[in-house]
Parts: sequence; C-alpha cells; structure tokens
Amino acid sequence: MLYYDVHTEITVDSPSNFFGRPEEYLEWEAENTLRLVDDILLRFPPDTEENIVRYSAFQMLDLVYHDTEAPNRPAVQNFFHRRFAGALEEMKKTTVNEGAMIWKLYNMSIVARTPSVTVCFDLVRAHSTRVEEFALQDEMMLPVIEQCDALFISHRHRDHADQWVAQTFIEQGKPVVAPPEVWEGEEIHSRITHLERVAHEIQILPVQSGGQELRVVIYPGHQGTTIQNNVPLVITPEGISFVHTGDQSNDEDFVWIDKVGEFHQVDVYIPNTWTTDPERAATGYNPALIIPAHENELGHVIAHREAYILNYRRWNVPYPVMMMAWGESFHYIQGK
Ligand SMILES: [Zn+2]
Repeated sequence: MLYYDVHTEITVDSPSNFFGRPEEYLEWEAENTLRLVDDILLRFPPDTEENIVRYSAFQMLDLVYHDTEAPNRPAVQNFFHRRFAGALEEMKKTTVNEGAMIWKLYNMSIVARTPSVTVCFDLVRAHSTRVEEFALQDEMMLPVIEQCDALFISHRHRDHADQWVAQTFIEQGKPVVAPPEVWEGEEIHSRITHLERVAHEIQILPVQSGGQELRVVIYPGHQGTTIQNNVPLVITPEGISFVHTGDQSNDEDFVWIDKVGEFHQVDVYIPNTWTTDPERAATGYNPALIIPAHENELGHVIAHREAYILNYRRWNVPYPVMMMAWGESFHYIQGK
C-alpha cells in the first residue's frame, strides 16, 4: 500500500488521472508539493546546519513559486495564508525569556521579539502581487501589528512599504520609522518618524509609550543610486541587535558598510539575498548570524523572484547562514 499521511489534508480532488485537464493537474501538484513542504519544515526546523531535506523543500518552493501563475493559484494563496496564521498563533503564545524569537512572514517582513520588545521590519500584506486573493486580509494582519512595538520601513516600494500597515501602527501610538521619501506629499508623511540617516550614530527611539527605548542607527543606504533605503541597526534593551537591509544595492555605500562591525556588534543580519557583493557586505557587518530574505517576492517577474536555491551560492560566506521559509521562526541566543 502506498500512503503518506501528509496527503490527507489535500482539498483538491485527486482522481486517478487528469486527462484533458492540465490546469487542474498543475493546481493539484502545487497543493501536493506545498503540503509536503509544510510537513518537511515542521520536522526539520531552521538551523545553521543545513541538510538535504530542507534543501529539497526550498527547491520545491522555488519550483512552485517560479510558475508565472503562482500568486493566482489557490494552492499558493492557501499556503501563504496558513503559514502566516501559524506564525501569528505562535507569536501570540510566545514569551521570550532569553535571546530573540525571529519570524519570517513574507519577502522581507520580519518580526523579532526579545524579553522586553517586539520590533518588525518591512511588514506588508503582499499587495505587491496585485492579486487580491493572494494578499492578506486586513483582519489577518491586524493581530500581528498588535503584537509589535515599532515598524521600520526600508524604502518606498510596495513590497516593503504598506501604507495601511503604517497607518495602523500610528493609530495604535507606535512609531513607524522610514526614509523621508516614503509617502512624500501624502497626509501620513508628517506622522512618520524620520530618524537621521547617519552612519554609525546611535539615536534613541522610545517605544511602548516611553516604557522602553531602542537604540537605533539608520544607515543611509540606497537601492541603486537614487532611491533612499534605510538600513536600520536596532539594538534592543537587552543589547541584541538586528540589521535589516531592505533593498540595499549600491557600491558607494560600502564606505560605511565596510565599517559597521568596527562600530557596533551585529547579532542578526537580514540582507536582501541579492544585495551587492554579499561576501564583502557580510564582512563589513561581521554578524553572528545571517538570515537572507527577499526570496520569491511573487510581485516580481520570474527572473527577479530570487530563488531560495541561489542562496547556497550567494551566501557561501564565512559566517553562520540560516534560511527561512514563510511563517518559520527561529530562537536566536547570543553566543550559541
Ligand atoms: Zn524589494
């Protein structure tokens, strides 16, 4: 008997053949593959020690996501939504006693929680795909926002900046930090916190209505030569630090990138996977852990969806590197 229990949850009809119904077959195959990936990710959680089973899961994700129709497929939409919902459930239950819990939700949407604060970066509902059924409903995102104390937005592109998300943070009295050109000329602009874009210099950002303070450096990054792209280094009250690069991609910014590690200790470095010269950048930040992000942004054309598997080449660098899929979490502890 051939049977594997991960298949029991499949909602698509699975007859013995799909003669004359290629579209239905592709949908069924995507659903089947993504359920299998769910199961693999559950059994083999993120680790700096990679293994061929997780590698296979990432390769399967790439195959499904590199179908031009991916964001239109119910199987992919359901996968994204259930992975997001799973992360939210875990977030609600998680109190951190030591180190930091890090959730990767989509593209570069990252939530990080320490014993005293929860910060998030480039949190979006994924309207970048322009597929309404793929994007998260407001009511799915709202409880995640409620879990967070501050939002850092790297730059103005819609796969990183979501005005509804920012507005909700502001209505909840929580700071939203972004470069000046994000939503310039719009009503929300005056309510955004524009910390100075100055290399290495620590600025104080009160959170939790002044109950806690973050120490923050806003590195003056760029996407290409002209788009302002904040690269925040956020240091929590416990002294755990995160760097999130947004779409950093500019040669001239190596003037400061090369020296970050000389000024600050970086715990977790979260780069866009296709950033300029990954090895030189990693050396500049000198982090304890690298978590590449921006893989498989489904709003991009296939050539720029950035396969997970490319990470194995790009981030073959002399630092611990850990890959994460949508909805996964990792408990980071300093010195481990
Ligand atoms: Zn982007």
